[in-house]
Amino acid sequence: MKSSPHRHTPAIISLTAIQNNVKKMRQHINKKAELWAVVKANAYGHGAVPVARSVHELVDGFCVSNLDEAIELRHHLITKPILVLSGIVPDNADIAASLNITLTAPSLDWLKLIVAQEKNLTGLSNLKIHIAVDSGMGRIGVRDAAEANAMIELADAHSIVFDGIFTHFATADEADNHKFDAQKTKFDEMVKSLLRRPKYVHSTNSAAGLWHSEQVQDIERLGIAMYGLNPSGETLELPYELEPAFSLKSELTHVKMIEVGDTVGYGATFRATEETWVGTVSIGYADGWTRDMQGFHVLVDGKFCEIIGRVSMDQMCIKLEKAYPLGTPVTLIGREGEHEITTQDIADWRHTINYEVLCLLSDRIYREYK
Ligand SMILES: *Cc1c(COP(=O)(O)O)cnc(C)c1O
Repeated sequence: MKSSPHRHTPAIISLTAIQNNVKKMRQHINKKAELWAVVKANAYGHGAVPVARSVHELVDGFCVSNLDEAIELRHHLITKPILVLSGIVPDNADIAASLNITLTAPSLDWLKLIVAQEKNLTGLSNLKIHIAVDSGMGRIGVRDAAEANAMIELADAHSIVFDGIFTHFATADEADNHKFDAQKTKFDEMVKSLLRRPKYVHSTNSAAGLWHSEQVQDIERLGIAMYGLNPSGETLELPYELEPAFSLKSELTHVKMIEVGDTVGYGATFRATEETWVGTVSIGYADGWTRDMQGFHVLVDGKFCEIIGRVSMDQMCIKLEKAYPLGTPVTLIGREGEHEITTQDIADWRHTINYEVLCLLSDRIYREYK
């Protein structure tokens, strides 16, 4: 989708906040572990290339979710190691090898497919892999050491580099540590039973880095906390303050007074019971500003204004206290005067997590960097 810089509905992204969040995590883990910035899904909506460039000197590597995201970074001269966190289709492994992109190896079956493709591919030697271990997430990865060791042997026989092994925690953002501890034990035992230890053994995401920093091994995979958000929502208290990097602004494109009985939006779900000033804002569900935002609020002139009527594809209406000129700023995420609307507020309103709110905001929203 083409972004729309002429619409005046920008996301404003603070690269300084992102850099500060990286530095704070570096201090917090306080040991020799490497920090790899997770910039999958367009850096959680913040823009993968600008974010990667801004932290390039502060981190040791990057994590993405698929090969195309990795290729995008390489094409923009990101030279640090890049790990693709999900399994990829085997017939693209030579692209990864040629661009020095490290792949996640989710199973022996997957590695066999890669090796079987070898003669059709231009080259696999020196392809780096990190073996994924399913210690309880139940998504991808090997579940016993025998499978991991068979993969190491197969990799060795084909000049594929066994560079790392990792697992992913399902509950690092929860108060109850039972599941976390069970996963940790399982992973540590598996690593002990390997034919050899690779360069990188890693397990921690933001939540684990924040609340279980003793478990950080060779790499901290830093995602949501780099963008300044609490991985647990509001469940766990942060050990240090984070700086949210994302704000979302717009402006009034139309202002009018409606009379008693007039309605607003599809389905005529809002009906005025008094003379009401109504403002129109250029954002809608095609931007990821979903229809369930009806009834929530934005900030105009430092005051909360309710979103009235259904949110349409490209526009929505808000209730104003008085007439405001066209072009008056509207804050959808961020601070205005003494009030603030956070990504977490929106997540709570929608009964979801802050990650999803950011990831849904579409490419049509122009990203501005400061
Ligand atoms: C997304 C992801 C991360 C980063 O998670 P955050 O909660 O954003 O820190 C780390 N590891 C894996 C395997 C992931 O998929």
